[in-house]
Amino acid sequence: MTSSPYVGRFAPSPTGPLHFGSLVAALGSALDARANGGKWLLRIEDVDAPRTVAGATEAILGALERFGFAWDGEIMWQSRRTAAYEEALARLKADGAVFPCACSRREMADSALARDGSRRYPGTCRNGLPPGRTARAWRVKAEGVIAFEDAIQGPQREDLAADVGDYVALRADGVFAYQLAVVVDDCAQGVTHVVRGADLLGSTARQIHLQELLAMPRPAYAHLPVATNAAGEKLSKQTLARAVDDFPPTRALVAALDFLGQNPPAELHDATRDEVWTWALAHWRRDDVPRRLQIVAPALD
Ligand code: GLU
Repeated sequence: MTSSPYVGRFAPSPTGPLHFGSLVAALGSALDARANGGKWLLRIEDVDAPRTVAGATEAILGALERFGFAWDGEIMWQSRRTAAYEEALARLKADGAVFPCACSRREMADSALARDGSRRYPGTCRNGLPPGRTARAWRVKAEGVIAFEDAIQGPQREDLAADVGDYVALRADGVFAYQLAVVVDDCAQGVTHVVRGADLLGSTARQIHLQELLAMPRPAYAHLPVATNAAGEKLSKQTLARAVDDFPPTRALVAALDFLGQNPPAELHDATRDEVWTWALAHWRRDDVPRRLQIVAPALD
C-alpha cells in the first residue's frame, strides 16, 4: 500500500477572529483533503508581527476546535521560521534573482509608471541602487509568464513583469513578505494541494515564480469564492465581520457547505456537529463549488 500523496493545509493570519469567510476556507480545504484521503495541516501565518492581533490566534484555534476541525501533526508558526526565510532569501541573492531596493511607498506612488494607475514597481533600483541611497527592502525580479490551471477558477495566466512588477521578498521594516513565507512553508510542510480563498488567486503566480526560482515543487491550486458583505467587500476585521464563533457550529457549518455549493439537505440543520461532518465528508464534491470569485455571505441569524 502506498501512502496518500495529498497534503492540504489551512493557513490563517491571526489578524482577528475566525469569520464566515475564513470558516469557508478552513472547511473547503479540510473537506478536500479528507475526502481525498489526505492530511490536513494548520499553519498560523503570524509572519507579519505588526499586523498580528493579541488573542487572535487563541480565538482562531478555539473556534476551529469548537467547529470540529482536527488537524494533523504540529501547528507551524511563521514567527518561528525566520531562519528558513533567511536561507531562501540567501539563495535568491546568490542566484541574482533579487535586488536591494531603496524606494519608499511615496516615491513609487509619485513615479511615472505608477501614475498610469498600476501598482507595479517602476524598476528604479533594479539595475543598482541610485547613488547615496540605502537599501530598505529586497525585491524579486519579475520575469516571464506564469500559467496554471486552478481546479475551481479554471485556466490562469499572468505576465509577471507587466501585471505585477518586481515584488517584495523582504520588506523595508525587516518583515519577510507573505509571498516568500507561504512558498517556503508550503514546501517545508510538503503541501501538495492549496485550497484557499480567491482573494489569493492574484498572489499565486508570484508564488509559483518563487517555487521555480527556489526549485520547490508546485502544489495544485483551488481557489474558493470569497465571502463578502452585501456591499461586495471581503469579510475581514476591517469590514467588521462577525466572529463565526458567535453562532452554533451546526448552523455555521451548514451555511458554509451551502456557500460551497454542496446542497446540504434541510434535515442537517437539526443534526449534531459531528453528523454534519460525516455528511460533508461523504458528499464533498469539489466540482460543485461555484466557479465564482466572490459570493455574498448568508446572514446567520
Ligand atoms: N494567511 C493568509 C490569509 O489568512 C492565507 C494564506 C494562504 O492560504 O496561502 O489570508
